[in-house]
Amino acid sequence: MMWRKNSNKHLTRMSTRKKVHAFVRVRPTDDFAHEMIRYGDDNKTIDIHLKKDARRGVVNNQQTDWSFKLDGVLHDASQDLVYETVAKDVVSQALDGYNGTIMCYGQTGAGKTYTMTGTTENYKHRGILPRALQQVFRMIEERPTHAITVRVSYLEIYNESLFDLLSTLPYVGPSATPVAVVENPHGVFIKGLSVHLASQEEDTFSLLFEGETNRIIGSHTMNKNSSRSHCIFTIYVEARSRTLSDEKYITSKINLVDLAGSERLGKSGSEGRVLKEATYINKSLSFLEQAIIALGDQKRDHIPFRQCKLTHALKDSLGGNCNMVLVTNIYGEAAQLDETLSSLRFASRMKLVTTEPAINEKYDAERMVKNLEKELVLLKQELAIHDSLANRSHVNYDPMDEVQIAEINSQVRRYLDGALDEIDIINLRQIQEVFNQFRVVLIQQEQEVEAALRRKYTLIDKNDFAAISAVQKAGLMDADGHLVGESDGQGFGLGVASYSSKPGKKTKSRRTLKEQLSSPAKKDGGSSPVSGKDMDVSTSKTQLTPLSKEGDVKDMILRDRETSNIETLPLDSPKEEPRPPRPSTPPSKPVAFEDFKNERGSEINRIFKENKSILNERRKRASETTQRINAIKREIDVTKEGLSAQKSLREKQGEYEKKGLIIIDEEEFLLILKLKDLKKQYRAEYQDLRDLRAEIQYCQHLVDQCRHRLLTEFEIWYNESFFIPEDMQAALKPGSSIRPGMVPVSRIVSLGEDDQDKFSQLQQDMLPEGPESISFYNAKVKREQKHSYLKSMLGLPKAQRK
Ligand code: ADP
Ligand code: MG
Repeated sequence: MMWRKNSNKHLTRMSTRKKVHAFVRVRPTDDFAHEMIRYGDDNKTIDIHLKKDARRGVVNNQQTDWSFKLDGVLHDASQDLVYETVAKDVVSQALDGYNGTIMCYGQTGAGKTYTMTGTTENYKHRGILPRALQQVFRMIEERPTHAITVRVSYLEIYNESLFDLLSTLPYVGPSATPVAVVENPHGVFIKGLSVHLASQEEDTFSLLFEGETNRIIGSHTMNKNSSRSHCIFTIYVEARSRTLSDEKYITSKINLVDLAGSERLGKSGSEGRVLKEATYINKSLSFLEQAIIALGDQKRDHIPFRQCKLTHALKDSLGGNCNMVLVTNIYGEAAQLDETLSSLRFASRMKLVTTEPAINEKYDAERMVKNLEKELVLLKQELAIHDSLANRSHVNYDPMDEVQIAEINSQVRRYLDGALDEIDIINLRQIQEVFNQFRVVLIQQEQEVEAALRRKYTLIDKNDFAAISAVQKAGLMDADGHLVGESDGQGFGLGVASYSSKPGKKTKSRRTLKEQLSSPAKKDGGSSPVSGKDMDVSTSKTQLTPLSKEGDVKDMILRDRETSNIETLPLDSPKEEPRPPRPSTPPSKPVAFEDFKNERGSEINRIFKENKSILNERRKRASETTQRINAIKREIDVTKEGLSAQKSLREKQGEYEKKGLIIIDEEEFLLILKLKDLKKQYRAEYQDLRDLRAEIQYCQHLVDQCRHRLLTEFEIWYNESFFIPEDMQAALKPGSSIRPGMVPVSRIVSLGEDDQDKFSQLQQDMLPEGPESISFYNAKVKREQKHSYLKSMLGLPKAQRK
């Protein structure tokens, strides 16, 4: 992550914005250049005056006077005063969560190490580092309300290589991974660097001395000038409140940096180069300077932290959100004036850098969960009390298990089917689950419709347009939720209340028509017998016969046709009811057929019925005509008989005929006329009858055709409409009931305080520096014992570096 000044610009006006504090510490010397170095009365200014020296050939126009204003000039200052002035605030703020960086800069021998570490021989001359550790532990003791942990690490950077100065400790062992600077979203850290927990002051001193020893041993082994390496001692602080079970905690680190010597090439060498800025011997210092210049330049956006290990390792410790302090160590002798000037220039540049110290607050997820759990327990107890006061026992607020959810699913289905009037509200969780299950059922139904439609289109002959349209119709009907469950209807005869026109009718009562007729209608109307006049069969003479076995529609049709002379049985009127949701079981075929005829098959059924009534009407007419013909025939016969009687009578009167006279009486004459008329009628009627017979034959053909079509379409409709997918049948099986239970009463959680009182017997009288120095000396004694033992064993200082 790039540290961007732009992102901080809008915060400039905020009071938190801080300048880096830059101090100068002058190393005492007998040969102090009094004429060249002067301090201001404010103890903050340092003036450099360069004597004109003709020998050196300084040109006239060359600058000879400089004035530097810093945050403090420490001249003849004790280690104690230096700590008070430079480090105390930074360390104390670290315990409040602010990162801090204290850096010593200056030429070799100017007193950087003396300032930072001090001497290990003399407690009084201990430097910032041991004092900072002491302050940290003192402050921890002053804050019993907080659990504060201290860890330390000690890193050395030499020629772009990183070394762990504490890797020699027995519990660290040789590092498997090489020490490296690593960046992650949380910042920069040094991978492979051992970080040591220090529970007390003495531990940290031991660690410090271990590191110092390794610095010295390392410098000998490598035959290098120790002043060329940078050393970074880091104190990591983590503070958690003991009293508040706060999930927030603060972390901070204090970087104590002893930089390599700042000396440059060609110092005090050839004439004319004296006051020019020469390049650092230590390259990383020039990168540090570049980073400092960039940090101090408001227009600069990019800070080149990654140019070398030093700046990369210190990326989040330079500027940014740190409290930052620079101690520039100068050597006040005339011969060192150019280095002194360079060092003061560096200090001035550092002063331009602004930082924005901020608390490093973090959240402990584990603690947060624990706190929430505690709160949950408390709220459940609260709820239990509330329930008992409100007489609401046996209400369970625990999350539902699969069985309970299945029961809610079943409730929702029964509610949708009309089998359940309402779903009782138990608690919020249950209400949420009810809504959830409504959605589940809805999604399932949508999937069923889709699957049903897909099946229909694949099963039907593509040339069968009537079937396709029937299926489409059925599909739409299905989308409205009219799919039904498993087959159940048995023993229904024709004339039973139609199912699909009244889908809510319960098919559960499996009564025969006879039973239905002999008992009053049930109050739910589920099996109420219906009047024949509501049925298509009512217009014709159709028998309502109970069928012995389930669903052969062809049987019904045949009965319809063959028993057309049997009287219709009177039935009660059906109740008109609002349409309830579909039942969970499909109707029997006979019942479904009635529905089909009234709904989807109504048009073809209408044609069927029309043809049938025409046929019946023609048959009736044919029968009447036949009767009339027979009557005419009988009349003719009678008339013929009458005429023959008249003839025989006339033959008796043969005498008249001899006389050549034919006498026809009036009666005979009338009979002849009548016969003639009857024969005419007979012929006409006979012609009618022949025509009727042709019509009847044709009508019969139409009726047969219609019947066939009606049956075919019904079979398709029935199969498609009442096919129930298996998954739905499984879902319809009744689940187990929700078992109410008591809210578990949890134990009362007490916030245990760790007994952190510590006692240490201090041998105040035995040490001149006071009790604080005990740990310092203890650590030192142990350190020395260890090293003298090592020396005696090996005869040589142990080589630490590979
Ligand atoms: P650097 O680390 O900058 O190279 P050192 O801290 O090693 O310099 O100092 C060089 C020598 O000067 C050491 O012997 C140190 O004890 C001594 N010295 C430096 N500053 C002071 C001081 N302020 N008072 C007493 N001795 C000092
Ligand atoms: Mg040093």
